[in-house]
Amino acid sequence: MFTQITLDYAFSELEPVLDTLTMETHYGKHHAAYTKAFNEAAEKAGLADKSAEEILGGLSAVADEALRTTLRNQGGGYYNHNLYFQNFAKDGGDATFAAEDAATKAFAEAVTGEFGGLDGLKEKLSAAAVGQFGSGWAFLSVTSDGKLVVTKSANQDNPISEGTGNRPILALDVWEHAYYLQYKNLRADYVKAYFGIVDWRKVAALYRG
Ligand code: MN
Repeated sequence: MFTQITLDYAFSELEPVLDTLTMETHYGKHHAAYTKAFNEAAEKAGLADKSAEEILGGLSAVADEALRTTLRNQGGGYYNHNLYFQNFAKDGGDATFAAEDAATKAFAEAVTGEFGGLDGLKEKLSAAAVGQFGSGWAFLSVTSDGKLVVTKSANQDNPISEGTGNRPILALDVWEHAYYLQYKNLRADYVKAYFGIVDWRKVAALYRG
């Protein structure tokens, strides 16, 4: 049974970056609906005992095309939002990138090596997020040889369902439901503010795996 991650912050604690109503709707309605539909589809496909990563990475083995599409969309929605909500903290932001623990230091070194520093990474992620035409996501992922890579995906696709072999560690939702109540059409403003709640210690822990 797939379940939504438990948040270690209250809906109201990501204000003013994400307002309470956006969080209530996004986590309580959108993510809940993806999770319910993914459970139903996984059950129907006989894959309920597999992990989300196994299902999304093995979609080509699902013969029924409609069921395969449902697993890709709903499973992606389930997985992507679990990552998105997991990346935040009420005391998130740039200061968490300078945390002194070993995992954060290793991650910071990788970011510096690949992007020249946190600003370079934020620039790349922002460009991917703002440049995604229509609904979708921007991701920071780890490649099989341990490199960091920024990509974007349409709809609820992600580097796993796209078969890249990369493992996402940071997810930036640019569906309108993620920001429209608060930022209206100004996606770039939402993307800029988003970095104020990212907890880089959590991203670093995922990088370490
Ligand atoms: Mn969303």
